[in-house]
Amino acid sequence: MSRRRKIYEGKAKDLYEGPEPGTLVQHFKDDATAGNAEKHAILDGKGVINNRISEHIFSHLNAIGVGTHFIKRLNMREQLIREVEIIPVEVVVRNIAAGTLAKRLGLDEGTPLPRSIVEFYYKNDALGDPMVSDEHITAFGWANPQEIDEMMALAIRVNDFLSGLFLGAGIKLVDFKIECGRLYENDMMRIILADEISPDSCRLWDMKSDEKLDKDRFRRDLGGVIDAYQEVARRLGVLQENDPVPTGGPRLVKG
Ligand code: UDP
Repeated sequence: MSRRRKIYEGKAKDLYEGPEPGTLVQHFKDDATAGNAEKHAILDGKGVINNRISEHIFSHLNAIGVGTHFIKRLNMREQLIREVEIIPVEVVVRNIAAGTLAKRLGLDEGTPLPRSIVEFYYKNDALGDPMVSDEHITAFGWANPQEIDEMMALAIRVNDFLSGLFLGAGIKLVDFKIECGRLYENDMMRIILADEISPDSCRLWDMKSDEKLDKDRFRRDLGGVIDAYQEVARRLGVLQENDPVPTGGPRLVKG
């Protein structure tokens, strides 16, 4: 896709100029990183699966009135999105203790939380995305109090929708991360969901066995990363039962 101008190069996705003003093309790569990009691998087909899973989730969110940047999927690895001004805050919602929360508070992974907890992290790779409070966000002008309220409300709606969606697929939604952006439309501004929602940004455990079906398989060297992502896609009805792993890129076919 070198014909288009690359606007941004991320760890797992790139953004290109869109066909019309106010649009961008989001391209899903096979790169996986963890530990602030100290660990890196190419997982053949990951981008294709995440493009489909994220499309499935964002199009359903759009359908129930939760604003997202998603417009439509263009091909195996790309989707057309609305251009937004990204708020440099990652919003994490947790239902079950895991990862950094379990570590920080000395909780056993898998402990159900008394209620869903929303946390904010400052998006800054060089600092390792430190956790921040409303105070930091408003003091440094990353978002104002009303925008923080909107991000919290959006995060809770997404959590309710996703919890039900995954429950129906026999999966527990342990936690997830979202990013929000400001959309400017006819002199109005509203906050909508941006980025992606996929097994890269969620913790997803099998309802019965607690088997991990997400990026922790990569972070913790458990193996079977693509099989797990594909299992999530199949259970959501995004991939058909016997589809092969949809690896990307052109393949040399001997004639
Ligand atoms: N997460 C993410 N990107 C980040 C940090 C966290 O997508 O840069 C997701 C992660 O996959 C998990 C949730 O946010 O679903 C909470 O992550 P946690 O704070 O436990 O940190 P981690 O263990 O992922 O470093």
